[in-house]
Amino acid sequence: MEDSQNMRTGIFCSCGQRIYDKDVVHRSYYLRRVGSNFVYIRYRCPRCKRLGEQFIRQERWDERLLRGEANELTPSEKERVDKLGPITVDEMIDFHEYLEQDPSLKLMPDK
Ligand SMILES: [Zn+2]
Repeated sequence: MEDSQNMRTGIFCSCGQRIYDKDVVHRSYYLRRVGSNFVYIRYRCPRCKRLGEQFIRQERWDERLLRGEANELTPSEKERVDKLGPITVDEMIDFHEYLEQDPSLKLMPDK
């Protein structure tokens, strides 16, 4: 299995550094009328100091992605996550286009 670099085991900078909760500088939720909602994470890599960002489908979001305990999935959770597969470049582009086409899109308030 190729779990080591997969989204479900964590968020990684392009330099390979694992990103943890303390590295996150901004977090938002994007609601779509159709399709998946997204969790948006912006982070600063502690190693190379670059800013990066990740969009993660809400149904595959897990707080453990930002902690060191992401492998503690039950077999049924793991099976569910496996079916989702990795996020694709097409999905990223689609998401950006969606944002551009819908300026009324609002961020969810924190509370
Ligand atoms: Zn980095």
